[in-house]
Amino acid sequence: MSVATTDFREIPAVWTRRHLLDLESLSAEELTCILDAAEDFRAATDNCRHKIQVLTGRTVANLFFENSTRTRNSFSLAARRLGADTIEFSSSGSSVSKGETVIDTAKTIEAMNIDAVVIRHRTPGTPLLLAKNLQCTVISGGDGPHEHPTQGLLDILTIRQRRGSLEGLTVALVGDIAHSRTARSNIWGLKKLGAHVIVCGPATLVSRHWEEFGVEVAYNLDEILPRCDVLNLLRIQFERQHTRPFPSVREYALLYAMNRERIERAKDDILIMAPGPINRGVEITPDVADGPHSVILEQVTNGLAIRMAVLWLTLGAGRS
Ligand code: ASP
Repeated sequence: MSVATTDFREIPAVWTRRHLLDLESLSAEELTCILDAAEDFRAATDNCRHKIQVLTGRTVANLFFENSTRTRNSFSLAARRLGADTIEFSSSGSSVSKGETVIDTAKTIEAMNIDAVVIRHRTPGTPLLLAKNLQCTVISGGDGPHEHPTQGLLDILTIRQRRGSLEGLTVALVGDIAHSRTARSNIWGLKKLGAHVIVCGPATLVSRHWEEFGVEVAYNLDEILPRCDVLNLLRIQFERQHTRPFPSVREYALLYAMNRERIERAKDDILIMAPGPINRGVEITPDVADGPHSVILEQVTNGLAIRMAVLWLTLGAGRS
């Protein structure tokens, strides 16, 4: 475990942002600042078990217009671990069903004197829209297929903890690249920190256009597997698709699921990751999900540390 190097009084000079809307606009230094702060929070709170009162008197509102297990609970717990109060908003059962707009809903919540809004919405750009219309800090918890910045950060932190650095590693994102906000945030973050990124999946879900951003595009998992240091297995986002992108789930699993036989042909120390929720038997078999290469639950623990770091940095920057 790393030793905390900060007493969390001063926000590092490199961090000046009040909002976290994406990873595309962050520099490598800003990304590293969040990762370092997350490591410090893990160390100072015994793996995020204990409270550290750096946001006492502040209030964080979770505005979730899409389903969530990990992100929502993790932001909530992160805020409370830092001493903040929380408000939990779900669109179901709210005035959204009476026709209220997302801006009006957010302004109503903000009028309760809250300091930060964590927003998840199916429409790309909603976090930016709120940042332009609210006075408080806005943090994206995922906007449609666009970005999921804290997911990208927690994935990158997990790799950095296991490997020391991202520089020179080959990381493959496998599955539904077209509809995955996790893929986009990973691509921006990993590239900036020096990793080689491969996107791999059926041609209907993986665009050749990613080559323009310096990302390798592949359609055959077995061909790229021996070169990979990390595989991040992305769920097929059926809820964002209007047509079936492949003939059957069984065929997808045959070509792209990580199973024991493929593990045997991979590097000995390959890391197997998944943002969750995982569909056992589709993108990953149960023995691999629960096996020695899997760091899926470490990702969840790191999610808490990343969200503590993001809340502390953005709210701290907003204060000055
Ligand atoms: N939990 C992640 C997200 O919200 C990944 C997924 O849903 O498959 O994007």
